[in-house]
Amino acid sequence: MLGSSFFPQFCYNTVLQQNHRAGVVVAAVCSSSSRHHHLIQSIHTTTSVNFDLWRTTTTNVIARASTQPPLSTSSLDEPPPQMEVPVVIVGAGPAGLATSACLNKHSIPNIVLEKDDCHAPLWRKKTYDRLKLHLSKEFCNLPHMSFSSDLPTFVPRVGFLRYLDDYVTHMKIDIRCNRYVDDASYDVNGGKWRVSVKGTTSFVDDEIYVADYLVVATGENCEAYIPKINGLESFEGEYIHCSNYLNGRPWYNKNVLVVGSGNSGMEISYDLSTWGANTSIVIRSPVHYFSKEMVYMGMCMLKYLNVETVDKLMVGMSKMKYGDMSKYGLIRPKEGPFAMKNSGKRTPTIDVGCVKKIKKGIVKVYPAISTIKNDKIVEFADGKSGKFDVIIFATGYRTNVHKWLKDYKEMFNENGIPKRCYPNHWKGEKGIYCAGFTKRALQGIAYDAKQIANDIKRDINARNQSATA
Ligand SMILES: Cc1cc2nc3c(=O)[nH]c(=O)nc-3n(C[C@H](O)[C@H](O)[C@H](O)COP(=O)(O)OP(=O)(O)OC[C@H]3O[C@@H](n4cnc5c(N)ncnc54)[C@H](O)[C@@H]3O)c2cc1C
Repeated sequence: MLGSSFFPQFCYNTVLQQNHRAGVVVAAVCSSSSRHHHLIQSIHTTTSVNFDLWRTTTTNVIARASTQPPLSTSSLDEPPPQMEVPVVIVGAGPAGLATSACLNKHSIPNIVLEKDDCHAPLWRKKTYDRLKLHLSKEFCNLPHMSFSSDLPTFVPRVGFLRYLDDYVTHMKIDIRCNRYVDDASYDVNGGKWRVSVKGTTSFVDDEIYVADYLVVATGENCEAYIPKINGLESFEGEYIHCSNYLNGRPWYNKNVLVVGSGNSGMEISYDLSTWGANTSIVIRSPVHYFSKEMVYMGMCMLKYLNVETVDKLMVGMSKMKYGDMSKYGLIRPKEGPFAMKNSGKRTPTIDVGCVKKIKKGIVKVYPAISTIKNDKIVEFADGKSGKFDVIIFATGYRTNVHKWLKDYKEMFNENGIPKRCYPNHWKGEKGIYCAGFTKRALQGIAYDAKQIANDIKRDINARNQSATA
């Protein structure tokens, strides 16, 4: 149990809450009015979240957060209740969960605020059915808990979700769902972070959290991005972002154009063609492509060899397996795959069978779209055109830090990416941190989480020492 003496600054009139699911104790400081005591009770009630797994008509397994309505506070016109915790983490994806787990290992109280109704909503609701972790499981563990040995080397999406569910339970992570952080700023006078939350359902009221440390874990993949394309708004077919794609079942025999040659674009193209869609893909720029096994070998080799050498070996292996694909529209970049990944330019694409389909002409390749015309006609940069019923944009995501983090420019650039380069990106000034923003996926997330928790622990120890000196 966490002793209140560990955090003397948080201890007046403290209500200790036990999250019945995670078994975590969180210190919530409130005023002595009965109304606020009532509010603490209602917050406690809303955190009684059970994640029931159920199967939809497809193989897609998602979790539903069933919550009991709290005692209503809406009739009260007082300002939202204010709760004080040492660490507030915004976002309950793998990065937020990993950071919370590392803090829990150090017995540092923390809570995770999540706008959706469950943890890891990206994996539960916005990924396609056939997705497996692209890297082998030994490179995807979150801190302090390995994947179970009965899971395959490349863990399927559902297996990863079960791992995350177990992780939340074992690591005693306190998640507060249905809470959208709409504002966070540093209060210079109080010397703390003030985090304002809007309930995303009728049974969660607005709240304010006050914290010494704020961890931004809202992800690089927070908002679906569709580029501006001439004529798209009047496209007579259907268009979606890949985060809404589950499988190709609805598009049997339809003409489907996938835009983007990253992992999602290539895998969705493969999937569509196996479901009987007439599939085409837009590949605008040079791309490295490897099988999962090659990437696994590359990751292992990186433990012993430098990036330049591994890159040469990787490209050699890719050429041996796939040959020269330039005549099919797949051109390899001049820079090596890991060098590009490390500099944050582009992650190599992991081929699950799409390259073979491109070679056989089953999946057609087009260059960039130049314009979209009437009658579902899409024109391309090389002057060719095609008629499509559906366009699926696998064109990436954007962060959302600029929408809720005031003064985000102190830590992030205009695109919501940390200004400091890896490996020093995770720490800002005045107790702000970020996890999961380096395009290094789950491996990078594990690194960030450990660094952040260790740093907060060091800082707390230093404060405690100077307080007792
Ligand atoms: C399709 C796809 C496949 C991937 N496959 C792999 C893979 O195989 N291997 C790998 O290592 N990586 C993979 N990644 C990359 C990466 O590991 C995942 O994106 C991972 O989920 C990132 O975790 P995260 O916690 O940083 O972000 P997210 O999972 O996006 O979590 C961020 C959370 O913050 C919440 N949030 C955002 N804003 C607010 C707010 N204002 N208030 C409250 N909550 C908020 C969101 O709802 C979300 O739950 C994949 C990514 C995608 C998109």
